[in-house]
Amino acid sequence: MRMTERPGRIGKAGSPAGAGELLELVRSGRAVTRGALQQATGLSRATVGQRLDRLFRAGWLREGAGGPVDSPLGGRPSITLEFADSHAVVLAADLDTRHARAAVLTLTGEILAEDSGTLVIGDGPEAVLPELGRWFGELLEKAGRPAAEVCGIGLAVPGPVDTGTGRVVQPPMMPGWDGYDITGRLSRAFTEHTGAAAVPVLVDNDANLMAYGEQRAGHPDCAAFVLVKVSTGIGAGVIVDGSVYRGIDGGAGDIGHIRVGADALCRCGSHGCLAAVASGGAVARRLAESGVPAASGADVRDLLAAGHPQAAALAREAGRRVGDVLATVVTLLNPGVLMIAGDLAGTPFLTGVRELLYQRALPRSTAHLDVVTSRLGERAALIGAGALVVEHLYAPERAEERLRALGV
Ligand SMILES: [Zn+2]
Repeated sequence: MRMTERPGRIGKAGSPAGAGELLELVRSGRAVTRGALQQATGLSRATVGQRLDRLFRAGWLREGAGGPVDSPLGGRPSITLEFADSHAVVLAADLDTRHARAAVLTLTGEILAEDSGTLVIGDGPEAVLPELGRWFGELLEKAGRPAAEVCGIGLAVPGPVDTGTGRVVQPPMMPGWDGYDITGRLSRAFTEHTGAAAVPVLVDNDANLMAYGEQRAGHPDCAAFVLVKVSTGIGAGVIVDGSVYRGIDGGAGDIGHIRVGADALCRCGSHGCLAAVASGGAVARRLAESGVPAASGADVRDLLAAGHPQAAALAREAGRRVGDVLATVVTLLNPGVLMIAGDLAGTPFLTGVRELLYQRALPRSTAHLDVVTSRLGERAALIGAGALVVEHLYAPERAEERLRALGV
């Protein structure tokens, strides 16, 4: 570097911005021309050019189709740059208790091929993960993309995940998975079914990934976003300043096991948890007791969609129970958006939530709160999982490492 050059303002403490930081600026839309990159980083035109050349050689960046725009430095209009989202693909899967969904996605979250079907989580990881590997192989064929283009795999699971190890920790709904090496087994299943080299696997809780997907897709400016998933169980995902808030070991958001003073037995072994009285599983049990066939959150969803009056009444009651807990959540976190998602997230449940939430929470904490329903629906966790993989692999430091590995 020439001595006259100012140190980059974006790079880590004192070091000038590298290719990874430039990519980040383009991907986030904060600087999309050479001039804007110079201005944002303090790097010279020549240095910006050298770093962009590496990104072009890797196939990670391309010139935008939008045509030239005015440069912030004046002079000739500049060509815009954009992330080349088709140089690789991501695989994502979302495991529910009895059902799974998987997809091939572009790096910007477009779904290229998707499938869903029965996969029982209680059969354990040795049955479920190899099967997912087989699904991935078929989906890649369907998408017409070679397995060698896969850069990573994201997996959503219905339990608390220690993201440091990618393992689930005492998951009430995932018998046989506690402490299991999910990333290692899924990576192996992928290579067994596709013949491709191993790729990074990221595992996270489904409510976290749904929240991540929904916040980015529909509420990108919301600095404090909470999603509550009410399906067979109940969980919450919290997004603060664009990142998933997980707590110190992945336990944040596990609101299904807050005690609400009832005596029903919960799947976690305790009595009186919120999930034991207000989840899709709990509503299904109440319905079954009165002779309506229902065994899971998905069954309740189908009954609600058909306008079943008893299912609607129980869903509203469950909404009130959850709303009472959410009054505390909202008071603690002061979110801008509270999204209700999952099998029960229809009008009766939402009505119940609003009744108790506005009654119990401080007016101050709900004054600027929007209570909304999902925008991505059943794809939220897949899209969140794909985005998490991309953010991980193309984060500045990791991108720099990967560029060096590519030899550019
Ligand atoms: Zn519990």
